[in-house]
Amino acid sequence: MSDVDFDIGIIGGGPAGSTAASYLAKAGLSVAVFEDELFPRQHVGESLVPATTPVLADIGALSLVDGAGFPRKYGAAWTSAAEDDIPTLGFSGLSHGFGSAEILFNERDQPGVHQDYTYHVDRGKFDLLLLQHANSLGAKVFEGVRVRRVDFEQPNPNLVFSLGRNEMSVRTRMVIDASGRGTLLGRQLKLKVSDPVFNQYAIHAWFDSLDRQALASREGQADYIFIHFLPISDTWVWQIPITDTITSVGVVTQKKHFASSPSDREQFFWECVSSRPALAAALRSSDQVRPFKSEGDYSYGMKEICGDNFVLIGDAARFVDPIFSSGVSVALNSARIASTDIIAAAEKGDFGKPAFATYEEKLRRGVHNWYEFISIYYRLNILFTAFVQDPRYRLDVLKMLQGDVYDDAEPAALAAMRKVTWAVENDPDHLWHRHLGSLRAPASAPLF
Ligand SMILES: Cc1cc2nc3c(=O)[nH]c(=O)nc-3n(C[C@H](O)[C@H](O)[C@H](O)COP(=O)(O)OP(=O)(O)OC[C@H]3O[C@@H](n4cnc5c(N)ncnc54)[C@H](O)[C@@H]3O)c2cc1C
Repeated sequence: MSDVDFDIGIIGGGPAGSTAASYLAKAGLSVAVFEDELFPRQHVGESLVPATTPVLADIGALSLVDGAGFPRKYGAAWTSAAEDDIPTLGFSGLSHGFGSAEILFNERDQPGVHQDYTYHVDRGKFDLLLLQHANSLGAKVFEGVRVRRVDFEQPNPNLVFSLGRNEMSVRTRMVIDASGRGTLLGRQLKLKVSDPVFNQYAIHAWFDSLDRQALASREGQADYIFIHFLPISDTWVWQIPITDTITSVGVVTQKKHFASSPSDREQFFWECVSSRPALAAALRSSDQVRPFKSEGDYSYGMKEICGDNFVLIGDAARFVDPIFSSGVSVALNSARIASTDIIAAAEKGDFGKPAFATYEEKLRRGVHNWYEFISIYYRLNILFTAFVQDPRYRLDVLKMLQGDVYDDAEPAALAAMRKVTWAVENDPDHLWHRHLGSLRAPASAPLF
């Protein structure tokens, strides 16, 4: 009889957990996924980037996702209420003025991606599809089971959960924490650290019959994700197509803005969107079909993302801010990279921390790139549109927006952006100095 119940125990059946389960079950390991909720369940994070595509293809789920009827996402657009009189300082291509930009994924060939679109997804359906797929590959899925803790009894960690008034446990060779912002192991092992700069807050809902072109700069962008910058510091709105007629809309801000506002969250949402009157009018003429939901306290890192007999993946490892729709892509790619190390560890029969060194290195690199990109965006917003529209940097920025951040050295555009930010910060007479935002991240943030 085996000394364990499963080779691998996975906490959480979101995109990270079900992707890891698929890779590992395909490799012949016995895998159990414990998911607190009964799927389908609602979840924020509905717009994908193309770096998800090779992972979906790898686990055999791409045709299922493609066939599920999710809106195809060919590009992204940013709109702004910003003034057009900002000095361009040698940046070319600012055809729509500062603050507005558009990218198409077909502008840059991406390794492993053979389609010029990704998807916007109803996460209820998408997450269910991925979890069922993992199950079809042999992973055992237990829904409605909340893991309470992991007992790291050597050599085998036990996942502990409640059964009525009793506790039950399952013995495994190693544990993957994919519990999302629940961060089960991060909290249990005291690895979690709040982000020193970002403390974001979001309010969102679904709307039917919204005119998605209301702020578009041209026809044909209706199926894009739109990021609408608001003339309120550090605050923006996402507009994501969910079906032909339903659109997800969310306001993202610093939590302190909401905390200092006397408004309740619904009022706060309407006050924010009213700063872009055309957007507010379009929203008022549509029908809200889901109640407002808010998300807070979601910016954190971890001191470690792996250790003896465990790894953290997806949001359980790290999350900062959704401005570039990176979350699901990080979930899928962290599952991919960690699974390679886990399969090798299983072959050697050694799940000690050194087995996960490649995972640690690659995820650190990817997350570092994302973090810096996001930090620069908040610190000097106009720099993002300057770089994305300048032919010298456009493809490099696009590479990050496609989610290709794990394998190569730091993108050249990022280093150039850092240099400009430094120059603007250190020269009070710089023509862009007054456009500096209040969020100032450390120049590098090595913490996970
Ligand atoms: C405001 C906001 C907007 C976002 N927008 C985007 C976007 O447009 N695009 C994008 O790609 N990403 C976006 N994200 C990020 C995205 O939501 C996440 O990165 C993504 O869901 C991470 O997937 P995951 O599998 O790691 O975690 P999750 O999807 O959260 O899955 C974790 C699962 O674990 C389960 N669980 C938790 N604790 C336990 C437990 N103790 N026992 C058992 N099960 C447990 C939960 O029920 C859940 O189903 C956004 C995030 C926020 C906050």
